[in-house]
This record gives sequence, structure tokens and C-alpha cells, in this order.
Amino acid sequence: MTDEPTRLRDYGLQSERLLWPTKGPSRFEEELGLEEMERALGLTTLEKAVRWAQTKSMWPDTFGLACCAIEMMSIVGSRYDLARFGMEAFRSSPRQADLLIVSGRVANKMAEPLRQIYDQMLEPKWVIAMGACASSGGMFNNYTILQGVDRIVPVDIYVPFCPPRPEALMEGIIRLHEAHLAGVPPAYERVGVAT
Ligand code: SF4
Repeated sequence: MTDEPTRLRDYGLQSERLLWPTKGPSRFEEELGLEEMERALGLTTLEKAVRWAQTKSMWPDTFGLACCAIEMMSIVGSRYDLARFGMEAFRSSPRQADLLIVSGRVANKMAEPLRQIYDQMLEPKWVIAMGACASSGGMFNNYTILQGVDRIVPVDIYVPFCPPRPEALMEGIIRLHEAHLAGVPPAYERVGVAT
């Protein structure tokens, strides 16, 4: 059984016909289907509207660690134009940010500050591991480098390559938006990490 609205009356519309118990769906409801009906009438739920607003204002934290950071910086330029998603404001305070893009290899020394920054961000918050090093340690299979940032923070999206081009990061951001719009909870609600 699902709580998803399927009829106009589920949206709180209260005409006599819609509320009549023995009346089936109207032709209008039958022909359009739920998604098209929402689009055509501008109907939605508060939850969906909030999620939509959040995807249009995810503010990234300023957190570049190595070569990948140069690719990350370029997405705010006119060529890639992150502003089209309302995301051009990279914040210097984690308390004003809700997206942590870990771009570059994470030395073990940096693990603690990174986790501290993550903990200072307000919920809901998301993490993108940008590049091979942040995702898995990359070519640096040695004792100084953290073998994947998901050992210390829950990661929502992994962006592959060394380095990922800005287009790849944009793809990761768009996938994150799609997941959030579809109702996928942030990674900290789904996966655990060592504390
Ligand atoms: S993935 Fe490649 S470009 Fe990115 S930090 Fe590692 S070595 Fe540098």
C-alpha cells in the first residue's frame, strides 16, 4: 500500500464529484496520469517542493585538496556555469554549506579536519568524492593516503577519472539532484562509516 497521491482529491481538491465514494476516476485523471496531471495543473506536495528548492540551492563547501581541485574550481566559470543550478556560492564556512566536494587525495593528516568540517555542516548535507584519489586512494596505494574518503564520511556520489573533467563533476551533481528529487535520502541516513 502506498501513500502517494493518485487522485485529484488526494491533493485536497474537494468538489462533490471527486468526493463521491462510488465515482471512479474522471476522464481527465484517467487520460493524464499522475505525473502529467501534476505538471499540467502545477500541483505538487510540500515534500517535493522542498526537495526541488534544495536542489536549486545546494551550496558547496570550499574544500580542494590536490590537482582535482583545479577542475572543480572551473565549474563556476562562464564555460560550465554552475550558477544555472543556484550553486555558484562556494562557502568558506561549513555551517553555510550543504555539499562537500572532496576533490583530491586525502592525506591521513587531513582526515580529522575533513571529518570535523563535515560534522559542522547542517543537515541535510551531501558528499561528492571527486576523482580516483578521493574515491579509492587512486594511484597512491601507500600508508600516507586515505584509501577512500568513504572511510571517514558517508559518500553520496563518486565521480571517476584522474582527474575528472568539469563535465564529469557536473554529471555527478546532476545525478545527485536527480536522486534527491526522487526521494533518495542522503548517504548519512543509508550508509555507515567508522567514527
Ligand atoms: S585523481 Fe588524479 S588529478 Fe585527482 S587528485 Fe588524484 S592524482 Fe590528482
